[in-house]
Amino acid sequence: LDNMRKEFVANVSHELKTPLTSIKGFSETLRGVEDEETRNKFLDIIDKESDRLSNLINDILILSKIENTHKMKSEKFSKIDIIKEVIDVVNPQLEEKNINITLEKQGSSILIGDPDKFYQMILNLISNAIKYSDDNKIIKIRSYEEKLYSIIEIEDEGFGIPKEDIPRIFERFYIVDKSRSKKGTGLGLAIVKHIIKMFDGEIDVKSELGVGSTFTVKIRKR
Ligand code: ADP
Repeated sequence: LDNMRKEFVANVSHELKTPLTSIKGFSETLRGVEDEETRNKFLDIIDKESDRLSNLINDILILSKIENTHKMKSEKFSKIDIIKEVIDVVNPQLEEKNINITLEKQGSSILIGDPDKFYQMILNLISNAIKYSDDNKIIKIRSYEEKLYSIIEIEDEGFGIPKEDIPRIFERFYIVDKSRSKKGTGLGLAIVKHIIKMFDGEIDVKSELGVGSTFTVKIRKR
């Protein structure tokens, strides 16, 4: 555990340092630049790298908060209501890419646990489905009940994940392909995995390159 912690600190420092180095470098160079076009290009880079830094810090804080929660809240909440809330929140991203979401539901959907954590988990999965899909695609969400588990499936028609990467995508800071993941921190699925563990659940991924991915979340009923 101690080794993991040390490794995490080293990784965090490295991840934070990369955008910071770039911000520092470009802002220093900016002083001597008179050409407006170049200046704007540098300012854009600084802006983008600041966003990246801010996303990273945000995700690291979420992850650390989750990891330090030993006992989860135990509230009753409606799974469907939270999925709908997330769909409302991501609406601007959906509209920007003209992506449609369908929601199919079967059975009662009452879960017990921390609704904010559940929200965060669904938000990360749906955001990924949007982020890693081309424009004009469809995302299908299915919610249904089994004897022991309450299930949520999120299926996209996106880029898919190479077979060899699938076992690693839940690791912290793991990014499949830098070029496809401009805004990613590699922490989204690490957060998802942790939250599902708190719910005593499981997650399963089926994915094919160029066809799409399906993430299946199984939450153990209480
Ligand atoms: P990020 O915050 O960078 O999106 P995640 O931990 O959420 O990081 O995901 C890890 C990697 O898994 C991403 O770099 C991305 O390439 C891949 N990935 C996650 N979800 C999907 C998806 N729905 N479709 C295709 N690739 C995905």
